[in-house]
Amino acid sequence: MTRVFNFGAGPAVLPEAVLQQAAAEMLDWRGSGMSVMEMSHRGKEFMSIIAQAEADLRELMAVPANYKVLFMQGGAIGENAIIPLNLLGKNPKADYIDTGSWSGKSIKEASRYGDVHVAASSCRPEAKQGKYTTIPAVADWRVRKDAAYLHICGNETIDGVEYLQWPDMDALGLKGVPLFVDVSSHILSRPMDVSQFGLMYGGAQKNIGPAGLAVVIIREDLLEQAQAGCPSAFHYKTVAENGSMYNTPPTYSIYIAGLVFQWLKAQGGVAAMEAKNRAKAALLYDALDASGFYVNHVARECRSLMNVPFFLRDESLNDAFLEGAKARGFLQLKGHKSVGGMRASIYNAMSLEGVQALVGYLKEFEKSHG
Ligand code: PMP
Repeated sequence: MTRVFNFGAGPAVLPEAVLQQAAAEMLDWRGSGMSVMEMSHRGKEFMSIIAQAEADLRELMAVPANYKVLFMQGGAIGENAIIPLNLLGKNPKADYIDTGSWSGKSIKEASRYGDVHVAASSCRPEAKQGKYTTIPAVADWRVRKDAAYLHICGNETIDGVEYLQWPDMDALGLKGVPLFVDVSSHILSRPMDVSQFGLMYGGAQKNIGPAGLAVVIIREDLLEQAQAGCPSAFHYKTVAENGSMYNTPPTYSIYIAGLVFQWLKAQGGVAAMEAKNRAKAALLYDALDASGFYVNHVARECRSLMNVPFFLRDESLNDAFLEGAKARGFLQLKGHKSVGGMRASIYNAMSLEGVQALVGYLKEFEKSHG
């Protein structure tokens, strides 16, 4: 068996120990005589799986007691609609910060359900490479004080722009506006103070587990603002009151997520992950910056620890670079089609050895083509 180094942005690499455990438990989950896929979601076996998964996620993220953890479907793109449907029933105003492709999508979708205002944008439409390379200075954000929420994308998976410091809503005079964050591509990568947010959400297929599951962490007092037309299966209050079992949840994805949470705890939790992730990212960015052959355009203070987009200065070498990478077992390095170039996603489950091997290849390719 040969495992590749998978630098894909998602669905992404999972910890090998998790895959092995899932394989060992595939036909008979702990004496039940069934695969988790075959279990009733309301049976005692699966109820214990989802309860443990929630407890472990709460422990890992230190989720305060006045927050609900919801396991949902529809991915983060689904949540782009589900959030306004749930929050803009009483007050239609929602403000968004535009820092990349994913916040752009969130803005477009939310505009179908409410009065959406872009309070700041770092888009440089004229740029050939790197349309988004910064986070607009917080002092320049024009957030409406009576907005129902302010939405940010914590880590722009495509553009490689991450909030390494969260906006201080109190200092902005926005104490009454809950901050909502899309954490799809960096949840559990480092400690995050849940109490700073009204709502956190993300698709699972990067740092949590298989696609099909979306996680929502929402402050309880925000559960009463849904629009009348909000579908029941996506109505946060209904989902919360039914313990994420109003409809049949994505049981197998939740099971694997639970194994990933256990793995994270065994690694020392999110603080330990942060140390590893910072070391991996530093290694890769340092190699790119030192080269003169490759370039990353993102401002240093917001360079993503998870997704590292880069360009070859001579783009005619792109195909040769990717072919050589593939031959060495480095897969999924091609940048998103909307931005071009390359991208290495280095989520929790990507080992330091994987990044070291990639840096070795970057140097080798530069030597032979530079
Ligand atoms: N937000 C971010 C930050 C993402 O990275 C992604 C997926 N790459 C999405 C939203 C959309 O997720 P999904 O395809 O699961 O709906």
